[in-house]
Amino acid sequence: MHEYSIVASLIDLCEKEAKKHHAKAIKSLTISVGRLSGIEIHFLEQCFDTFKEETICHDATLSIELCEVVLLCASCHEKSIVEKNHFICPKCYSEDVAMIGGQELHVKSIEIIEE
Ligand SMILES: [Zn+2]
Repeated sequence: MHEYSIVASLIDLCEKEAKKHHAKAIKSLTISVGRLSGIEIHFLEQCFDTFKEETICHDATLSIELCEVVLLCASCHEKSIVEKNHFICPKCYSEDVAMIGGQELHVKSIEIIEE
């Protein structure tokens, strides 16, 4: 279960942040997830709600933003956003493209509640 380990490391990160800022709790956590990251968003949310109970995140809300899949064309060097999973450059129709975004998971912000 990939999602469990993601949630565990997110909570870990929150605990470190809270300690650094002497916060008593985490208010919210915003992450961005690539559309092709393979992460099940609903499952990730469920995991977070299950795991957070005994942690600094017990009252925290998790917001997840989906990131588009971005291609870089090797022929014309144009960056484009993939729609409907067509891995073709929309400018020159080359299939020689590399995925440069859409598989990542980033923490965008952590909001803390100070003492
Ligand atoms: Zn192109």
